[in-house]
Amino acid sequence: MEREAAVPHVLIFPFPAQGHMNSMLKLAELLCPADMYITFLNSDHNHQRLLRFTDAEARFSHWPKFRFESITDGLPDDGHCSAESTFEMFNTLESITRPLFRDLVISLSHPQQEIPPLSCIIADGIIPFVIDVAEELNIPIISFRTISACSFWAYFCIPKLIAAGELPFQGDMDVPIKSVPGMEGFLRRRDLPSFCRAEELNDHVFQTVLSATQETTRASALILNSFEDLEGPILSEIRSRLPKLYAIGPLHAHSKTRLLEQSLLSSLSANSLWEVDRSCMKWLDSQPPKSVVYVSFGSLAVVGRETLLEFWYGLVRSGIPFLWVVRSDSVTGGNVNEEIPGELVEATTERGCLVGWAPQEEVLAHPAVGGFLTHSGWNSTLESIYTGVPMICWPYFADQQINSRFVSEVWRVGVDMKDTCDRGTVEKMVKEVMERREELMGSVDRLAKLARSCVSQGGSSRSNMDRLIKDIRSMARSSPKLHPKKK
Ligand code: UDP
Repeated sequence: MEREAAVPHVLIFPFPAQGHMNSMLKLAELLCPADMYITFLNSDHNHQRLLRFTDAEARFSHWPKFRFESITDGLPDDGHCSAESTFEMFNTLESITRPLFRDLVISLSHPQQEIPPLSCIIADGIIPFVIDVAEELNIPIISFRTISACSFWAYFCIPKLIAAGELPFQGDMDVPIKSVPGMEGFLRRRDLPSFCRAEELNDHVFQTVLSATQETTRASALILNSFEDLEGPILSEIRSRLPKLYAIGPLHAHSKTRLLEQSLLSSLSANSLWEVDRSCMKWLDSQPPKSVVYVSFGSLAVVGRETLLEFWYGLVRSGIPFLWVVRSDSVTGGNVNEEIPGELVEATTERGCLVGWAPQEEVLAHPAVGGFLTHSGWNSTLESIYTGVPMICWPYFADQQINSRFVSEVWRVGVDMKDTCDRGTVEKMVKEVMERREELMGSVDRLAKLARSCVSQGGSSRSNMDRLIKDIRSMARSSPKLHPKKK
């Protein structure tokens, strides 16, 4: 028997990390105006930080059908830092969060006061248990992967790579990879997502990512933060296996465009988990147009002091003014400010600006910024493409290795310094992008225009979003009463 629940109620559950939470909050911002109930489930730890450092609570209070919930990620409160703790979270989410999540889904599946029962879950596809819980409780589930389509597709093809003997590998990293359809001819071993570098196939992180990606076929549909004009051929490859695919990105621009149209954009609409240091905006105001290289390695990357110094020397020797985000938890092996050579300190005072966390979207849109030295995180890549800023890529881990290959070889909007970080290379590549910008600017401008038009009226991401909303509504009409499936 079907229940009547015309107003959808969607539970959105991101993996507890900055980039994941950020893009799923943008999705929530796009769903709210569609008049549906949204429960956004953050980890307790991230939620406290979001409330502390942003106006998210006030911003979302505009939508009476929206509410935040939070749940433990299983880590101790002082155990959250960088990439290492992210790997640890795969275990704690499974052992500690999973039963609590199941209880929450059960409680949301019963009507509460004015709120209709849950009709759909949109969960981060990297959280291992959500599809199991949704299937058991008979709730439709849509998988959201916050990575690029190219990296999702590479992950999806891993069984093929193994069968073809291309994985695991050792030795020469420049050997071409042939078993990822659509990427023959430019993909090398070193460009595969970093987890593919595992020497043993039973490596825990490799297996987690592999199985989470294969499990996507059990979800009703897949959402990707990408757009047709950027990754069309790869999206077609994915559709051959997962026909219900919504490419609705770049989400930061998509939600911004919609909020602007509704006069709802707040100047503080970022979703930062760190305190934003806005002093760098003033510093940027004093710099000539397109003169500054912005440097940031995202929210998870950690470098040793030696690597930090190589970057620092390279930047200083390039002679280019730089704005550099050095997170307080991003350097191992000593205090950032300890024993810094005098020439670096002097040059930084003269033409540098260091902050602990920047308003990145605003920084990239600032007229003084002419290049972005980035770790190639997917959000950063999209933000750079949208603002038309060419990139110098230094991928750190996960999907970043393949993103940077697409930046340099497919989209031709930057250069890739993957697997090197000596001061000479940093200096050379920063100069190459900042001083020979014209060579890249044709493709950079073209892609920025396409990114803008796909989120404007009639654009592909707009119509994909409309289709997603329509499908969520139909799930609300057809979702059956809650009865756990017998195992
Ligand atoms: N970011 C920011 N300020 C900073 C550094 C990063 O606001 O100083 C934001 C950036 O705009 C992006 C996110 O943090 O939206 C980082 O996500 P990404 O996918 O690029 O990398 P990750 O942190 O997941 O490695």
